Amino acid sequence: MASVEPSEFGPLLDAVPGGILHIDRAGACVYANAEAVRELSLVRDPETGTYLARPAIEWLSEDGSPFPRTELPALHVLATGQSQPPRTLGLRSERGVRWAIFRAVPTHDASGALSGAFVTFLDVTEQKRAAEERSQSEAMWRSLASNIPDFILLVDRERKIMSVNHQLPDLTTTIVGMRIDDFQHEDYRAEWQQHFEAALAGTKTRFETLGIGADGGNAWYETILVPVDFVEGKRTEHVLVVARDITARRAMLKGLAEKERLASVGMLSASVAHEIMNPLTYVMANLDFALSDRCPPGARMTKALLDAREGAARMQQIARDLRSLGRAGAEELFYVDVRAIVETALRLAGPEIARSVTFAVDLTDIPGVLASESRLCQVFINLFVNAAQAMGDLPAGERQIRVQMRSDESAGLVGIEVADTGPGIDPTNLGRIFEPFFTTKRTGTGLGLSITRDSLEQMGGRIDVTSEPGRGTTFVVWLSTRRQHTKRPAPVSSTV
Ligand code: ADP
Repeated sequence: MASVEPSEFGPLLDAVPGGILHIDRAGACVYANAEAVRELSLVRDPETGTYLARPAIEWLSEDGSPFPRTELPALHVLATGQSQPPRTLGLRSERGVRWAIFRAVPTHDASGALSGAFVTFLDVTEQKRAAEERSQSEAMWRSLASNIPDFILLVDRERKIMSVNHQLPDLTTTIVGMRIDDFQHEDYRAEWQQHFEAALAGTKTRFETLGIGADGGNAWYETILVPVDFVEGKRTEHVLVVARDITARRAMLKGLAEKERLASVGMLSASVAHEIMNPLTYVMANLDFALSDRCPPGARMTKALLDAREGAARMQQIARDLRSLGRAGAEELFYVDVRAIVETALRLAGPEIARSVTFAVDLTDIPGVLASESRLCQVFINLFVNAAQAMGDLPAGERQIRVQMRSDESAGLVGIEVADTGPGIDPTNLGRIFEPFFTTKRTGTGLGLSITRDSLEQMGGRIDVTSEPGRGTTFVVWLSTRRQHTKRPAPVSSTV
């Protein structure tokens, strides 16, 4: 019998990882190393020298159901004389449940007859727990991903779809394996690919783009591209694409923009009515004088009538300004005179602002730019009002707004810079000021700059901002000097 002599091998077998048992032909445990004694809660019978398992121990199958002792690997070896494949079993004791992989092989005596079995086992409780936690967490993420309305796709560097959290509802075949380009509107494909290249180079980008919608038509998507396995100097193999359908949000914002425009026209009407009262009083006083007995015909009467006419001309100018603001909808773009528009905006921004802020306007030789007069006027009013509000706490003499020209001839763009001497914008807010509803004012709507940006993009232009806390903020309104032959609206994009 290949029996183990504990006195010789005991210290060695106690030192190896895992439990070792020797079971004799009759099924009694004649040897157990230290780990086996500990893990299986064995007790040595001093009379026979054999080890007994405490009856309180319960054996479990891998699925957690009770495992019959008669099926234990050692007993199988004794019954069949065959080695048993590895088997994961659980042991429930007062210490809780431990899991181990058991193996059992036969032992033979000198004549070759079956004399017993060697059993080894390795504790895998921690690995099993980690695997369970992993699969639970995977199931949770999978359920989360398949239940959120956004599309989450993993694409390889050739833009082939590797996985997707859910399908477009009317698609019957899986889109896995197809190229993501097939789901982009052709006008936006090139731009999408540029963002994708940036993601492969390690930049996480966010942009709006047109693609195929749930109903098979076109839909706007806010798309985020994240390089999944970016390591400096190594090739990025996969990009995570998160796409949210924002068609409804865009439509709502457009409606809101129109409402905000009308509301601001309402506000402006009040300030204009106030403005009209002065010249009106002047006109009335001059006409009353001209009609009165006190006014002799001749030069004095002519002077009173001319004064009245001058007052009426001022009112006519105000009425014209207001009419240009009242036009609705998407206007056609014309070459406009920026200087005249800035002057109108200054008049309309409100008399208080004009009086409390020093304006320095230098727009000499500014070329014509393509714009909608009324929308551009609103853009400047909004920038002037924001600047004046930001400078509200400064002493009157320090509130300055400078308007001047910049140009980017190679791109066919002209910039109109509106710089203030206000407190500037906190760097953490700078990336958010164009978001709808972002405001730091107690009574602000947070819509002004978002509408400004949309208006400019609809005119083929854009707006940039730089700000130095404590020194001031500069917005630059860029507009085109050349007519473009595409009608597509420019999407917004930023690096996040
Ligand atoms: P609102 O004026 O209703 O707050 P806007 O969209 O026009 O909405 O502006 C958003 C935010 O941007 C403001 O609340 C303010 O914090 C900031 N902001 C805009 N213009 C300026 C400026 N010239 N100086 C400092 N902060 C500004």
